[in-house]
Amino acid sequence: MSIQYGVWRMYALVDGNNFYCSVERVFRPSLTGRPVVVMGSNDGCVIARSNEAKALGVKMGEPWFQCRHLEKDQGLVALSANFTLYGDMSERMMTVAGSFAPRQEVYSIDECFLDFAGMPGGPGSLVETGRALREKVLRWTGIPTCVGFGPTKTLAKLANHIAKSAERKPGSYPEQLAQVCNLGELADEVRRELLVKTEVKEVWGVGPRIGAQLNAAGVSTVLDLVRLDPAAVRRRFSVVLEKTVLELRGISCLTLEDAPASRQQIMCSRSFGRPVLEMEGLVEALSDFAARAAEKLRKQENLAGAVHVFITTSPFRKEDRQYSRSVTVPLVRPTGDTRVLVSAAILALRAVFKPGYRYAKAGVMLMELQPESVHQAELDLGEPEPGTVPRDRSKLMSAVDAVNRRHGRGSLMVASAGLATARREFVPKQERRTPHYTTSWDDMPVARA
Ligand SMILES: [Mg+2]
Repeated sequence: MSIQYGVWRMYALVDGNNFYCSVERVFRPSLTGRPVVVMGSNDGCVIARSNEAKALGVKMGEPWFQCRHLEKDQGLVALSANFTLYGDMSERMMTVAGSFAPRQEVYSIDECFLDFAGMPGGPGSLVETGRALREKVLRWTGIPTCVGFGPTKTLAKLANHIAKSAERKPGSYPEQLAQVCNLGELADEVRRELLVKTEVKEVWGVGPRIGAQLNAAGVSTVLDLVRLDPAAVRRRFSVVLEKTVLELRGISCLTLEDAPASRQQIMCSRSFGRPVLEMEGLVEALSDFAARAAEKLRKQENLAGAVHVFITTSPFRKEDRQYSRSVTVPLVRPTGDTRVLVSAAILALRAVFKPGYRYAKAGVMLMELQPESVHQAELDLGEPEPGTVPRDRSKLMSAVDAVNRRHGRGSLMVASAGLATARREFVPKQERRTPHYTTSWDDMPVARA
């Protein structure tokens, strides 16, 4: 079967290699070549692994206590997640990558799609572009990436998987495809070989569950999947999988999100380093979460129409009495004002708080988001209603955001969020976090000759 790809579309998927670990290595080059893992949620389990850690058999999501022995035996280095640093480095990587194509969709913290439609290019030139992109991202940010090209997003993802595997596991794919792979320019026979070599679960959107169902139906390689009748796939599985098959055949069904639908919620939640018993502690934690969420909200230029709050005890502490509640407070008018959002969160907390429990986690979710630019017309009849955002307030909020950006998170905050930060009562356990090298003056790395 010959698969003809159109030439009128071309996507790239740029992906940071072992992103969190690579970012840590930028500032601690001594970690290069050593097995490194990054731990999430109170240093509980592994959320990122360097190639060397993968080679030691450390699994994604593995609880730390299960691989802790590798620290002594194999020199495994474990770090607490430093999301402030990862977020900032991600922005830098995306800016550099985005300069290579007219359109970009940032897909996750370490992945973006680029749309090369309409760009001039002859045979081989995209691979050249991909190499130049890798080189520039590496030189400007220190982050190694792999680049996959294809005439559809699904094929670009697949090309990226091939580029990454060819680099990490020599022999898995032809070595000339390592780091940069363009599925669109390969000869039919070569491409076919690649599709035979790749398991169906590696395809974007297939995953382990549908992968197992496909395997049970005798579909084990990507080529098997490509050969299925799309209409039959829709009947037996889903429209989504039908689109995947079409995309693998080079028929583009998924385009870049030009204007990504404004995200529907903003969540800020955390497990506490140790249980919180008093209302006061929760007020402080939730005020801080609401303020952080409000800052993200304003960055997206959105307003929230409702505030959702939850508090819960730890289901893992079987000896504790269990309690968990959530409540949503609708706002009179959508707002981006930290003070209104914090007040709503506290109001919600007062409605659900019960004394006598050991609270382990709480969170704030801002809901019913809408663009700031959509104004609800209203007659100005004297005093502003509570919850409205007159011009001076949005100026105040911009000023608060600017100060916190420049001088570090928490430099200016709503008073109810203040004490907890000082007492570190709800700060998650992060015993091995590296400094905020790129976002805090105090943490700036110092180079010595
Ligand atoms: Mg990655």
